Amino acid sequence: MSGLRFATLGSGSRGNATVVACGRTVVLMDCGFAVNETLRRLAVLGLTGESLCAIVVTHEHGDHMGGVARLARRFGLPVWLTAGTYRGAGAPRLPEVNLFNPHEPFAIQDLSIHPYPVPHDAREPCQFVFSDGAMRLGVLSDAGHVTPHMQRSLDGLDALMLEFNHDPDLLARGPYPPELQARVGGRLGHLNNGQAVQLLESLDRGALQHLIAGHISEKNNSPAHVREAVAHRLPAEAAALVLAPQEQGLGWHDIRPRL
Ligand SMILES: [Zn+2]
Ligand SMILES: [Zn+2]
Repeated sequence: MSGLRFATLGSGSRGNATVVACGRTVVLMDCGFAVNETLRRLAVLGLTGESLCAIVVTHEHGDHMGGVARLARRFGLPVWLTAGTYRGAGAPRLPEVNLFNPHEPFAIQDLSIHPYPVPHDAREPCQFVFSDGAMRLGVLSDAGHVTPHMQRSLDGLDALMLEFNHDPDLLARGPYPPELQARVGGRLGHLNNGQAVQLLESLDRGALQHLIAGHISEKNNSPAHVREAVAHRLPAEAAALVLAPQEQGLGWHDIRPRL
């Protein structure tokens, strides 16, 4: 056990990537940015492409996987993904493919990774809980609704990065055409602010040190709407809430061992 920490290179529909580190094990979750942009954002965190051990992928959408194959080839990185995600992405040429079952945990060096399936309009999408054996970081970036299995997977975490994609009224009044509004707001789309808060309310949050709101739509949501949704029902969490931006990412967050 050498402590768990994480940072985000950026979050939103124009690109997602998150770094999870445990000692010398540094894993990139998703990469929706071009190689040079990824390297620029890694450098802000004191990392290079050579710092990475592997890339794990949630699903094949471009904002999560668009930059994965090029980055993996450039640095010879193994890529971990479900068989459906691999096929959904068109079976890209990768230096090393590790297919995992989204119901079974696996390990990358010191990091244990518990995937869990989510309802989203991709081939075999999942999200992850990362652990160093003691502390647990959960991520949930793309899901149309919350299932009991997702609740069980995210209960009692030490840190959580959670999708607050849209405000339903802003989505309805926003610039998206009706089909896209229906997709985003549908059962296989994205979590709105109310759904995210409801999920939080259902979880044991007693150990939660970090709460990050991510995948915030720039067109159908606003930081103020996210903060208000949380403050309204969860004032204690609102004080500690951090919003993950699209442009410059978020610096390192350490998860402290419990006393
Ligand atoms: Zn997606
Ligand atoms: Zn996405």
